[in-house]
Amino acid sequence: MSQPETRSNHEKPAIIWLNLLVFAITFTIAAIGVPWYAIAHGFSIELIVSAVIALSFCELSITAGYHRLWSHKAYQANAVVRFFYAIGGAFAVQNSILHWCSDHRVHHQFVDNNDKDPYSAKRGFWYSHIGWMLREYQAHRYTNYDNVKDLKKQKIVGLQHKYYLTLVLLTNFGIPAILGLWFNDFWGSILLVGFLRLVVSHHITFLINSLAHMWGTQPYNDKNTAKDNPILAFLTFGEGYHNFHHAFQYDYRNAIKWWQFDPTKWLIKSLSLVGLASNLKKISDIKIAQAIAAQQLLKAKEKVNMLNIPDREKVLALIQKEYDILIQKMDDFYQLKKEWLDKTKAGLQQSVEKSQINKTLQELKANWENQQASWHLMIKQYA
Ligand SMILES: [Zn+2]
Ligand SMILES: [Zn+2]
Repeated sequence: MSQPETRSNHEKPAIIWLNLLVFAITFTIAAIGVPWYAIAHGFSIELIVSAVIALSFCELSITAGYHRLWSHKAYQANAVVRFFYAIGGAFAVQNSILHWCSDHRVHHQFVDNNDKDPYSAKRGFWYSHIGWMLREYQAHRYTNYDNVKDLKKQKIVGLQHKYYLTLVLLTNFGIPAILGLWFNDFWGSILLVGFLRLVVSHHITFLINSLAHMWGTQPYNDKNTAKDNPILAFLTFGEGYHNFHHAFQYDYRNAIKWWQFDPTKWLIKSLSLVGLASNLKKISDIKIAQAIAAQQLLKAKEKVNMLNIPDREKVLALIQKEYDILIQKMDDFYQLKKEWLDKTKAGLQQSVEKSQINKTLQELKANWENQQASWHLMIKQYA
């Protein structure tokens, strides 16, 4: 006779009603109330602009503050900037800095580990997007802030944690109410700057945990599910270059090319130009170039290994040889560049020597680029 199944084996953790209600109510009001009000009364341009500014304030506080400053310590920021990030984070209703960063550091440490990563993308879209916050999946960790001891010492972080709920209520009701009175459309502002802004801001951040681990490319490594995706970068204030971010988490940038959309990086850089941010951490260009080449080598070898060709070993050896030459040429260029920069910094450069080194640098760069071109031609056959 078969045993009846014990319920406890299949029981899911308890629902966190507060979270569920906050997400459900705000979403329902935004989804129904905003279109209804738009048709019945319309929204003024001032209010729409205010909502966009409020959304940007929330998101940049999360991306530049919670994420790149506090979770990863990718730069340092002036107290005034940190104060605004702390307020914006509460306005975004994404938990306190301390809690958010603790979760996020665990995410990086145990990425894709279904038992440890708080929003592991391997548990599917729904779970990593929002499901992880709806049940007591990681209740044992909730008050363990051992991995953010450095942040605990910061006054602004401690105060924000202590008065988090007060700040959430003050910002989320106060800011929309003041703007509503200012622009003479109280309920319009509550709907647009209050509810819609909050819901959009929530899902923008959630996309980084869900879709940015599912949809896109992996130019730097495929050791985890993180992806680079320009569309997501556009929606998430630059955080969509998530493959780069997981490969080099301490870099203040997520996008490394000037034409890639990363307003969070632009904000941090601008703050540094006016003296409000400092020590912006950047991974060296050679490390990035090496990571890209290593990933290309790996992919090319994987493809060749899948092909049914008689001279497979020969092809593999040839790819490896081309790769080794590429790395060597890359190294030659960056070594000399480093020497040149060091000397320039120390002011040891004679103008004759300078022009000589400059000339050699140009040659090494050309050598590297030639090899890069032939490398691309080779791996293209196996892409
Ligand atoms: Zn991630
Ligand atoms: Zn991160």
